[in-house]
Amino acid sequence: MNDFEINTLVRENIRKLLPYSSARSEFNGKASVFLDANENSFGSESGQNYHRYPDPLQKELKQKISLLKQIPASNIFLGNGSDEAIDLLIRAFCVPGKDNIILFPPTYGMYQVAANINDVEIREVSLTPEFQIDVEAALKVVDNNTKLIFICSPNNPTANLIKDTDIKILLDSFKGIVVLDEAYIDFAAKESWLNKLLQFPNLVILQTFSKAWGLAGLRIGMAMASEFIINILNKIKPPYNIGEATQKLALDVLEKDEKVREWIQLILAQRAWLVDELDQFGFVKKIYKTDANFVFVKVEDANKLYEYLIQNGIAVRNRTNMLLCENCLRITVGTSIENQLLVKTLNNYR
Ligand SMILES: *Cc1c(COP(=O)(O)O)cnc(C)c1O
Repeated sequence: MNDFEINTLVRENIRKLLPYSSARSEFNGKASVFLDANENSFGSESGQNYHRYPDPLQKELKQKISLLKQIPASNIFLGNGSDEAIDLLIRAFCVPGKDNIILFPPTYGMYQVAANINDVEIREVSLTPEFQIDVEAALKVVDNNTKLIFICSPNNPTANLIKDTDIKILLDSFKGIVVLDEAYIDFAAKESWLNKLLQFPNLVILQTFSKAWGLAGLRIGMAMASEFIINILNKIKPPYNIGEATQKLALDVLEKDEKVREWIQLILAQRAWLVDELDQFGFVKKIYKTDANFVFVKVEDANKLYEYLIQNGIAVRNRTNMLLCENCLRITVGTSIENQLLVKTLNNYR
């Protein structure tokens, strides 16, 4: 078992921080007259109750998510997208100009950007050519100032799962926090790490409503971790980080998780179809195994194909300039009509 010390991992100023205390977080009794928050007591023109500040801790929403995910609400943090959680994790644990984090490129770009914004050093350990983690190399670059290791599984943009055994070794031997980004786990042929969350005090799992749940425009992301870590994130987040309209809409959508299961099946079927079709093109050199809602392909000339698709009104992601991704494109699985249009367009390529 990892004997890491969570208390000393937290930045000293954050540990000592007296958080902002909002009117709605100080008041937790029952009242019918609210004269404590300088809102407009006459109402709002929206016809909804938007003249009141929202619940700063999103208790009702977390209760629903807790039932859905089968973990206590006290182990859930909600952010304005998981991007907010990424930023808060770096700010909670990394002293600017002193501490460092470990990333495994090619991977999701926000870890790097959030670290750069916070002036936190990045130590990069390239994935292997099979897009797996070189655990030995990772542990070699860890020092006393390494606070976070970011693992993305299924990985963006390479679409593959990271091996459980490697994640386990890092969780067991790293005395900092392992952030496991499971944004695409709903599309994977493997269970989430969520059911093991409470076995690992240094594990933070990120999930989002932006992908399978179809709510990218709403901005809700989840961080799930020990109560200690969740309390720190709550302490430093902007007090009302999830708006009332967002909380309400998300509650409605959570009632429709049947629909989400249906969508996932549709997306998986479309993904299989797309992989089969892409396989027939001579200019497609390799289709990587995918556990996400996108396919990652190596083609003859990614820049040329990318430009051609843009000319035909189809946007994909050109990843050719990323490490190990020469001539690779990331293609989101679309609707059946969109995917057919893509294939038809590719039929006329060159
Ligand atoms: C899309 C994505 C997210 C989601 O970010 P949100 O801010 O929740 O929309 C997180 N991580 C990865 C790897 C992603 O690709």
